[in-house]
Amino acid sequence: MKQGRKKSAVLLIYTGGTIGMKESAEGEGLSPFDFSGILSEVPELRRFQLRIESYTFDPLIDSSDIVPEIWCSLAEIIKENYDAYDGFVVLHGTDTMAYSASALSFMLKNLGKPVIFTGSQLPIGSLRTDGRENLVSAVEIASAKTPEGLPAVPEVCIYFNSQLLRGNRATKMDAVSFDAFRSPNYPVLAQAGISIRYNTKAILSLPGPDEPFDINTSLDTRVAILKIHPGITPQVARNVLLGKDIRAIILETYGSGNAISKPWFTQIVEEASSQGRILLNVTQCPAGEVNMDLYATGKSLKKAGVISGGDMTTEGALGKLFSLMGKYSDNEVVKRLLQTSVRGEMS
Ligand code: ASP
Repeated sequence: MKQGRKKSAVLLIYTGGTIGMKESAEGEGLSPFDFSGILSEVPELRRFQLRIESYTFDPLIDSSDIVPEIWCSLAEIIKENYDAYDGFVVLHGTDTMAYSASALSFMLKNLGKPVIFTGSQLPIGSLRTDGRENLVSAVEIASAKTPEGLPAVPEVCIYFNSQLLRGNRATKMDAVSFDAFRSPNYPVLAQAGISIRYNTKAILSLPGPDEPFDINTSLDTRVAILKIHPGITPQVARNVLLGKDIRAIILETYGSGNAISKPWFTQIVEEASSQGRILLNVTQCPAGEVNMDLYATGKSLKKAGVISGGDMTTEGALGKLFSLMGKYSDNEVVKRLLQTSVRGEMS
């Protein structure tokens, strides 16, 4: 490092989850450890010559209890500390990490610094933990610069098991393997091996000088998700699609966007659409995309006013809807924006 140059700085934001657990000295099992002592717990981090500081949520949250208010707090913390750090690492439980990373990607506008979510399948205090590598590499990525000295990954990502994934493209695929996350429809942004290789072409570009960083914390959560399945009854479909106080419905359909072709289902969809509700079609397949022109059942959904979610994940679609609906009261504006890529969430 050149003399006089400021040390790069990374803020670790610890929300909870398995990663921050360790065996208590009294042998009472796993409990969260004090993250202000992270440098003595993971001394490898000192080798980076970075200023690493931490912010710990109180109370810590198992990520199954994540609510949009926590996303708003995360966005506020990042905003308050934006100028003081080169990047941010969010330690988060794996269960809803893809939802949180997706939501944050839409809530952070003109992001010019890395926001890297990570966690682990085994607590950092256990012998075979995956948490150390995940944390150490996430910190390296959060502080990484291009040869020109600019942030290497100015976007919200998930780093897990040697792979850096775009946050709003990622999904949790495995409940037990260290290889827990995948991004089936978008390339890996970086691969960690002996060194970390960045897939620069796949990474979002930096905002322009006239595009200041900002956050959007007004979210409208009146969204329901209806997973289509054989045997779904008209009552269930009606309750969800025509339910009170539901502004948008994500239809998780079969294959390339197909649902039930029976008139009762089409009628309910048409009724929901004619009431002005936003109907978004995403596939329940882990990979691939919706194409409502392929089959008659897809065509009838399209005719009824259902919008294609393309190759978006359900997590991505949910975060996008919350954010767009919070920002725009006009459903037609939301529907139009749903069909364009806002943060690289669809191809
Ligand atoms: N239930 C935990 C959580 O999501 C699991 C984990 O951290 O991986 O917070």
